[in-house]
Amino acid sequence: MSRIRATFFDPTGNRYGIPTYPWRIAPPHLLTLRQLAARGLRPGGQDVQAQVMWRSHRHGAPGVRVAFLYDVRFALPKRTATPRQLAALAKANAARRTCPDCRKDAGYVLPRHLGTCLNCAYGPETVEPLAA
Ligand SMILES: [Zn+2]
Repeated sequence: MSRIRATFFDPTGNRYGIPTYPWRIAPPHLLTLRQLAARGLRPGGQDVQAQVMWRSHRHGAPGVRVAFLYDVRFALPKRTATPRQLAALAKANAARRTCPDCRKDAGYVLPRHLGTCLNCAYGPETVEPLAA
């Protein structure tokens, strides 16, 4: 395993607070929101279980990237909501996206284990997680 990959290999969460894997090393039962959605699933109330971290050199947005992972065994089928439910959800999610430190809407639901946006938690070179 190269040094870069070892940097992000933390299955016990000692370093990053939750289990952390480099790309392609994460256990197969841990999926991103996008991967869950592709299977017609949603996290179903579970918090983030683990994360994938990698260093991106993409022009314009270099830095450490994070994708949060959910356990497919706790996932539930997607359900369709009524307009009233959607409005209530949008309001609740807006509150869950607002960082208590910088007061900004992070654009994603703040991970409970951090309590803040990624910028406040990991520094300004971190950008928002992939799957939203
Ligand atoms: Zn913040």
